[in-house]
Amino acid sequence: MISKDTSNNTDTAHSEATVPTAIVTGASRGIGRAIALRLAADGFRVVVNYAGNAASARDVVDAISAAGGQAMSVQADVSVAEDVQRLFAMTQQAYGQISAVVHSAGMMTMNAIAPENIDAFDRVIQTNLRGAFLVLGQAAADLQTGGRIVALSSSVIAKSFPQYGPYIAAKAGVEGLVRVLANELRGRSVTVNAVAPGPVATELFFEGKSKEQITQLSKLAPLERLGQPEDIANVVAFLVGADGGWVNGQVVRANGGFA
Ligand code: NDP
Repeated sequence: MISKDTSNNTDTAHSEATVPTAIVTGASRGIGRAIALRLAADGFRVVVNYAGNAASARDVVDAISAAGGQAMSVQADVSVAEDVQRLFAMTQQAYGQISAVVHSAGMMTMNAIAPENIDAFDRVIQTNLRGAFLVLGQAAADLQTGGRIVALSSSVIAKSFPQYGPYIAAKAGVEGLVRVLANELRGRSVTVNAVAPGPVATELFFEGKSKEQITQLSKLAPLERLGQPEDIANVVAFLVGADGGWVNGQVVRANGGFA
C-alpha cells in the first residue's frame, strides 16, 4: 500500500535532483515517527514505513507535508524478505537514489528464559533481528555512495534485567550486524552505526509496566527523566547529517547516563 504526498512543493531548499531520500522503518509511531519528522525538517524526502497502522503512518506523512516537506508511506513487514525488497523498490521508483536508511521498527515482550517462552523468543528474534538483517542487507545493496545506515539497538543490553532475555539477545545481535556491515561496506563511503536509547516515552516502553516500574526506570539515569523520541531523533539526525560523516561502526548510547 502506498500513499504519496501530492502537494506541489516548489519552495524547498534543494532542487529535485539533489534532495536526499531517507527510508525510516517503523516510522508510524514512537521514535521512528520523531526521526521521520526530524529528517524531513532537515531536507530529506522521507519514506514512512509501518507494519499495520496505516492511519498513523498517514498522519506522519500529512505532518511532513504540512511543514513543507515530502513524504510517502509504505506498508512492509520488516521480517518478510519480499516486503523489504518492495519497500526499497517503491522508494527508488518514487524518489530515485536512497541516501539514508534508519531502521527503527521493533517490538518488545518481556519473557523469562524458560522452555515455555520459545514462541515469544521466536517472535522477538523474527522482528528485531531477522528484520534488522533484511533491512541492513537491502540498504547495503541499494544505498548510493556516501550513504548512511543507522539501526536502533537498546541501552538495556548493559543492564541484563530479568525478563529481557529475548529482547537483549536480538539487540545484541543488531549491534553485531552493524559492526560487521561497516566492514563489509569498505570502499563505498557508507557509514553504518547503531543508536542505543535508554527508556524512551513510547508505547513500546509503557506497555505492560506498572506506574511504579515506570517511575523507577525513569529515575535510573542521572538525568532523572525518560528520554523523549526527539532526544533520539537528534542523535540520528547527527549521524545521517553532514557533521556525522566520520562516525562509523559505532554504537551511540543515547540514554541520559542510564547505562
Ligand atoms: P513503538 O512501539 O512506539 O513503535 C514501533 C514501530 O515499529 C511502529 O511504527 C510499528 O508499526 C513498527 N513495527 C513494529 N513491527 C514491525 C514490523 N514487523 N515491520 C515494520 N514495522 C514494524 O516503538 P519505539 O518507537 O519505542 O521503538 C523504536 C525502536 O527503538 C525499536 O527498535 C526499539 O526496540 C528501540 N528502543 C526503544 C526504546 C524505548 O524505551 N521506547 C529503548 C531502546 C530501544 P505499526 O505502527 O504499523 O505497528
